Amino acid sequence: MRGFFFDMISQKTLFLNLLAQTTQAPLLLEIERADGVVLYGTHGEQYLDLISGISVSSLGHGNKAVINAIEEQAHKYLHLMVYGELVLTPQVKLAEVLSQFLPFKDQTSVFFTNSGSEAIEGAMKLAKRATGRAEIIALKNAYHGSTHGAISLSADPYYTDFYRPLLPQMRQIKQNSIEDLDYITTDTAAVFVETIMGEAGYLPSNQEWLKELRNRCTQSGALLVLDEVQCGMGRSGTLFAFEQYEIQPDILVLAKAFGAGMPLGAFISNKETMSVLSTNPILGHISTFGGHPVSCAAALAGFVEITERKLWQNAKEIEREFRSGLMHPALQQITGRGAMLGIELPTQVKCLEFVQHSIESGVLIDWFLYAPHKVRLSPPLVINSSEIRQACEIMNNVAEKIF
Ligand code: PMP
Repeated sequence: MRGFFFDMISQKTLFLNLLAQTTQAPLLLEIERADGVVLYGTHGEQYLDLISGISVSSLGHGNKAVINAIEEQAHKYLHLMVYGELVLTPQVKLAEVLSQFLPFKDQTSVFFTNSGSEAIEGAMKLAKRATGRAEIIALKNAYHGSTHGAISLSADPYYTDFYRPLLPQMRQIKQNSIEDLDYITTDTAAVFVETIMGEAGYLPSNQEWLKELRNRCTQSGALLVLDEVQCGMGRSGTLFAFEQYEIQPDILVLAKAFGAGMPLGAFISNKETMSVLSTNPILGHISTFGGHPVSCAAALAGFVEITERKLWQNAKEIEREFRSGLMHPALQQITGRGAMLGIELPTQVKCLEFVQHSIESGVLIDWFLYAPHKVRLSPPLVINSSEIRQACEIMNNVAEKIF
C-alpha cells in the first residue's frame, strides 16, 4: 500500500502536502545526491552550490573524512545518555581540539547543543546567571535563531509581532553606531553581536566600533557574546571572524558549519563563567541530545580538515575571484568578506527574478532574511577557480537577460 502511494503521487506533492511549509514558495528542487560543490537532481539536473545549505557545507558535500568519522562512531554507539553525564570520547576530543584555537583565559568550557538557536538560548541564560542582570542588548536586523528567546533578541516587527509578548528587557542598537554604545550600562547582562552580520546581508562590523563595544562591555561588566554561527569556521577569511578585530568574546556561539553537515551547536566561555550553570540550582541548562556523539565525531573530522588545510585562506581567494568574475554592471555592489558575499540589486523583485533564473541555469543562490534585495553567495570553501568562473559566467548571463 505504502509503495503504491509513493508511486502514484510525486515526491513534490507529498512534500507540499505532508511536510509543514515555511514559505508559500519553497525552492522545491528534488535532489538525489550531492558531491563536492554540485547537487544532482532526480532528472539529471546539476546545480553548483553557492549557498552551502546556508553556510553549513564548508567542506563541500561527501567529504570522506567526515563520512568515515560518522560511520565509525555510528558503529560504536549513538545516544547513550543526556548531555553532561557520561564521558563521551567524541565530545571530549572535539572540545580539546577546539579549545586549542580559542582565546579563553584559564580554561575553555564548551556546552554542546543541537543547533544555533539552542546555543543562543543557552548563552542568554548563562549571561543572565553569570552577571545577575536581566537586560540583553542585540543589533537591529540581527538574526540569532527562531526560538522564542532568539527572536526576542532581534524583535523585528514583521517576524515577531504575532508572537508577542517576547522576552522582556531586550534592547536593539545599530551596528557600527558608537553613539548607541551608551545604552550599555551596569544593568546590561550581555551584548549579542554577529561579528559579521548574516541575515542583514553580510555586513562586517567596523574595527573601531567592535573594539569600543568590547571596551564598554568590559567597563560595565556586561558579557560580549559573539554569534559566529554563520561567520565562524573559516568562512570570513580567518578561522573565527573575531580574530580580524583583535578582540575576544566572553561567550562564543557556534553552529552550522561547526557540525560539518551534522546538527551541532555550542556556546563556549571560560570555565569560571560556565560553572554557574551547574550549581544552585544544578541542571541550570540541560539537553537530551546536545553534543550527539555522531555529530561530535563528524565535527571533529571537519574541524581537523579546516584547520590542517587552513581553509580560511580559500575564503579570501573565493572573495577575490567572485569580485573580479562578476563583471556585469548590475552585479558590482558587493558587501561581505571572504566566502560570505552579498550582491546588492535594485529591488526585491529583481533579486527574486535573478535568483530564480540563476537556479534554472544551474547555480544555486539565495537571498537574505533582512536584505531581500541582496543575493547571497556562501559557497563551500573547497570551491575551485573553474567552478567559480562557471558560476560567474552563468550569473553574468542571467544579469544580461534581466537587467
Ligand atoms: N545565529 C546566526 C548568525 C544564524 O545565521 C543562525 C541560522 N541562520 C542562527 C543563529 C540559528 O541557528 P539554527 O538555525 O541552527 O538554530
